[in-house]
This record gives sequence, structure tokens and C-alpha cells, in this order.
Amino acid sequence: MRSKIVAGNWKMNNNNKESIQLIEDLKAAIKNEELSNTRVIVAPTFVNLATSISAANGSSIEVVAQNMHQAKNGAYTGEISADMLKAIDVKTVILGHSERRTYFNETDASLAEKVDAILANDLETIFCFGELLEDRKSDNHFAVVESQLKNALFHLEASAWKSIVLAYEPVWAIGTGETASPEQAQEMHAFIRSIIEKKYNKEVADGVSILYGGSVKPANAEEIFSKPDVDGGLIGGAALKVADFTAIIKAI
Ligand code: PEP
Repeated sequence: MRSKIVAGNWKMNNNNKESIQLIEDLKAAIKNEELSNTRVIVAPTFVNLATSISAANGSSIEVVAQNMHQAKNGAYTGEISADMLKAIDVKTVILGHSERRTYFNETDASLAEKVDAILANDLETIFCFGELLEDRKSDNHFAVVESQLKNALFHLEASAWKSIVLAYEPVWAIGTGETASPEQAQEMHAFIRSIIEKKYNKEVADGVSILYGGSVKPANAEEIFSKPDVDGGLIGGAALKVADFTAIIKAI
């Protein structure tokens, strides 16, 4: 059975002290929650990963990275390798967030290399993708999503998909307060599962967790998560407030 996941992407927010505090608060808030088959994940910035992992120790909260470079090591100033992440016990890395694609020129091709590095290092990725507003307005959103997945992930063997979590994040809904309707999310998630089934098989398609991301809040989480192909959320702004993030976890 595929996992339910609520993942908080903290982006470039929270210093070290604030990161530890947020994890402590979250630990206390979900201490008595029944979280069967639900993973709770937070993604602090690189510099706060090690102390966040220590802070989360002994709880069910998983601490993951927001990005990773594809090379093993070398002259890549400012970048972080899989080895470096593994050395501090990071097991999962978010890749392909729309902010990385937009501001840091990440492409399907470079993301395919990053995914290969993830697999070569026995890591897991939460792989983000999604269409722009103009793609949706021109009714091109299915084609865009299909090409993002084909270009970055469809070279993988079926067995590799146990290390992949998908996060469908329509770019027009990220940080805008605009959310895809539960029906739009379900429609796209079902489409994604159908193209994975066509390329691989039903077992792979049914096994992959597909998260929705884009202005998920306590007020809309339950309805979005109630859809059969939505396995949880990748949460930005609302993950920075323990009360909101906890309410979203409870919604699942
Ligand atoms: C995100 O950045 O992945 C995201 C979904 O942000 P927000 O929840 O703030 O829209």
C-alpha cells in the first residue's frame, strides 16, 4: 500500500534556532496522533539539516533536503553532493521544485541526472513538476506534465520507482493563495497514474505516492486529501506555522 505523506518545504526560511524550535513544537503537537501509514516530513535549508535531524531524533518526523547536486564531488562552488547528505543521515531529497526550475535554470535533462544520482546513492526523491498558468489556460497542462515526467523519469527501470515520490505542483498555485480545485488535482493525479501504468505497469502506478502542492492550507487540506489519487501534500507557507502544519497532518 502506498504511503500517505505530508511534507513541509521550508525553502529559505528559519535559522538554526528557529528550525530546532519548529521541530520541537511539531514533535509535541503530533505526539499523540495516530499516524499509521502517514509520513511527516520537513525540509529545512542545507545549513540547518544536521541540527534538525538531531532535533527530530526519536520522533517520527523525517528531515529531508531541498536539493542536491548530481556530481559525486568536485569544482561546483556552493553545491551539495549525495555523499554529504548521506553522511548526516539524510535519506530523501526534494528535486525539481518550480523555484529551482525558474530561478536556477534546472531543466528536465539536469533533473534526470539528479534522479540518477539519487538512485545510485540509494536515496529517495520527492520529485516536483507542474504546469504554468499559460499551459493550463491553453489546455496544454496534461501535455506539459507528461513531458516533464517522460524527460526526467521515464528512463528509469520499474524497480527504481520504489524510490520515487511525485509532487504535482501547478506553478500557478504555489505561494499564490490560488489552489487547484480538488477535482483538478484528482484529474491530474489520475492522469499521472495512467501514464505511469502505460509506460510500466499497474503495480508501479498504484505503488507511487503522488502529493499535491500549491497553497494547501488547513481550510482546504481535507477536501484535497479526500481524493483517491491524492496521497498527501507538499506544503510551503503553511508548513512554517506549527498549528497550520499540524492541522494539515490531521486532515490526512
Ligand atoms: C511549495 O512551494 O512547494 C508550495 C506548495 O508552496 P505553498 O504551499 O506556499 O503554495
